[in-house]
Amino acid sequence: MSELLPIIQLGNSILRQKASLVENINDERIQKLIDDLMTTVAKANGVGIAAPQVAQSCRLFIVASRPNPRYPNAPEMEPTAMINPKIVAHSTEVVKGWEGCLCVPGIRGLVPRYQEIEVEYTDRNGKLQKQELTDFVARIFQHEYDHLDGIVFLDRLESTLDIITEQEYQKQVINNT
Ligand code: ZN
Repeated sequence: MSELLPIIQLGNSILRQKASLVENINDERIQKLIDDLMTTVAKANGVGIAAPQVAQSCRLFIVASRPNPRYPNAPEMEPTAMINPKIVAHSTEVVKGWEGCLCVPGIRGLVPRYQEIEVEYTDRNGKLQKQELTDFVARIFQHEYDHLDGIVFLDRLESTLDIITEQEYQKQVINNT
């Protein structure tokens, strides 16, 4: 049975650590962590979650884009565990888009990210995967990848003027799209 994990919040030093590589993907604790993260991200209306967000400082995250109340326009995909991920190439084009974070409740920011990235990761079966990701899914990957290096989306903002509250986000952004 997978369980709902508590999500730590900004201020917890684990969120600022560089996470370590996952050595053994077949370890049942890693497989259980993947199941638990998938349950947790769905329940929290997230579109991605990284292991450090549940106080596990290892290089693993879930990308699980789908429309939900926090991201009504997100594209639908199968939730995917990405282990020891890397960004191997990226576009020169950078786009700004709204992000939130389960560790930073109540706040949204307009974050610049590469529009397209080429990534590699190991999947939960131990197979190396290479993919090109664009737009919102590329944004999720970059956000989660940052968590593995102790970076949060607030660090990427160009200006504090690009921060708004969740309430204003719901009013201004979601209701106008
Ligand atoms: Zn986050």
